[in-house]
Amino acid sequence: MLQSQIGPRLSEKTTCKISWDDITLNSYSMDASSYIVKPAAVAFPRNEKDVIKILKFASRHKIPVTPRGGGTGLVGGALGRGIILDMRHFNTVRIGHGVVQVGSGVFKGELDRVLRKHGKFFGPNPSVGPFCTVGGMIGTNASGSHSLKYGSTIDNLIGIKIVTSKGNLVSFPKSNAIAKKVLKIIGSDIQKQFPRITKNSCGYRIDKVTANSNTQKIIAGSEGTLGIIVSARLKTISLPRRTVLIITSYRTIKEAVADAPRILKIGPSSVEIIDRNIVRHIKTRLPRGAKCLLFVEFDDSVTKKKIKAKHVLSGRIVTVTSDPRQIRQWWTYRNSALSYSLKSTSKQETASSLIEDATVPVHRLSLLLDLVEHLTSKYPMRVITYGHAGNGNLHIRPILKKKDSRLLGKIAQEFFSGVISIGGSITGEHGDGLARSKFVKVQYGSEIYSKFRKIKQLFDPANILNPGKIVI
Ligand SMILES: Cc1cc2nc3c(=O)[nH]c(=O)nc-3n(C[C@H](O)[C@H](O)[C@H](O)COP(=O)(O)OP(=O)(O)OC[C@H]3O[C@@H](n4cnc5c(N)ncnc54)[C@H](O)[C@@H]3O)c2cc1C
Repeated sequence: MLQSQIGPRLSEKTTCKISWDDITLNSYSMDASSYIVKPAAVAFPRNEKDVIKILKFASRHKIPVTPRGGGTGLVGGALGRGIILDMRHFNTVRIGHGVVQVGSGVFKGELDRVLRKHGKFFGPNPSVGPFCTVGGMIGTNASGSHSLKYGSTIDNLIGIKIVTSKGNLVSFPKSNAIAKKVLKIIGSDIQKQFPRITKNSCGYRIDKVTANSNTQKIIAGSEGTLGIIVSARLKTISLPRRTVLIITSYRTIKEAVADAPRILKIGPSSVEIIDRNIVRHIKTRLPRGAKCLLFVEFDDSVTKKKIKAKHVLSGRIVTVTSDPRQIRQWWTYRNSALSYSLKSTSKQETASSLIEDATVPVHRLSLLLDLVEHLTSKYPMRVITYGHAGNGNLHIRPILKKKDSRLLGKIAQEFFSGVISIGGSITGEHGDGLARSKFVKVQYGSEIYSKFRKIKQLFDPANILNPGKIVI
């Protein structure tokens, strides 16, 4: 079928809104990455039946389908040439005891608002704040500044309902035929072949799927390639009564990361880092020579931990505060790191979206920084660094003097093989998407990659679900 026929033909088959005008297609051709892919049509399903009909149509005509939430993904995951499914109408939130049942199109901001009224919150908190959706967070296995204590989305996903490429509704965890096949493909003893880190969004997280009771986790981080998430059950946590934030300054980023393993021993909820490219945008007086800041937060037994923290932090303490207004202000600085880093890039320079999300074991962060130092001395580039030091997950963005995709590809290969040899992952929370899918096999090797292929084949034999992502 011609691209131009997809919209009109699909609208004859469904009752929900289908758009294929140029303005809509152009706006859905972008997300928060630098990629541009123009789709053929955008569908706005209102319920499960709509999704089923669309998938049956797409399956019959072999048209790619890409689900989309808030479009805040950083790797082009929500971009595709065929039909984009905008899941905004899947917006229900039902609170239970320690769980919340949500539609996949619910925005994080709305989820937070409803949970807050009940004294609860959802652990993973991407810095993009309210603008991402539950579907997108599950799709990328998103994390955030407090994932150190509360885990990534995969750790908080209790149940899920998806529509498969053939238009079947499937729920996990359940002892159904597909779950049995998933477990058979995964087999046993595969954990050894996955990096020993606390955050990982590379490939399918088959290392977390060990029994019928946790088969829902196969969908976390699957980037719309295994099924369209319609709803999910998520774990909720009681809001802490008090938090304390300690900001410490350092002369170098290496000094700051050296403190991280010690501080982890006293149980912080968050340990975040920003380098001087971000620090210089902060409108607060900082000690002379402050080139890097560490954000350390506690949300239980705060007094004792506050005192202990002061002993293990080798930098200069800028502030220790439990004032919610001040804490919010500091987090605004931290959460603006991506936009500050773009402000720190000149018009001639080009920032990488390929290398930006590596995770290594925390005690090996200094090796990651050595690797970066080696690359900056070898190639014409500098780096901007910020991220989740407590999880060993640094957003190190190479900034090249001018656009040169061949050079960037070369640097990426060297960087990724360095990260893997340190025992890390090429992506801790943003996923593979158009940026990194071709490196998934490099990360895991042929044996695990062939299991990924079999999983993809099982859920999506015709390869219509977000093709070109994860398994290529
Ligand atoms: C300024 C900024 C800061 C960020 N900070 C963080 C951070 O701290 N931590 C972090 O983890 N990420 C961060 N991100 C990345 C991004 O916000 C997250 O990945 C987020 O989870 C994406 O959600 P979304 O709804 O925008 O998803 P989208 O971008 O729309 O989609 C992301 C992926 O999920 C899939 N998907 C979406 N909905 C569904 C569905 N219903 N069914 C199946 N698959 C689906 C898509 O196909 C795509 O592959 C940041 C992004 C920005 C721009």
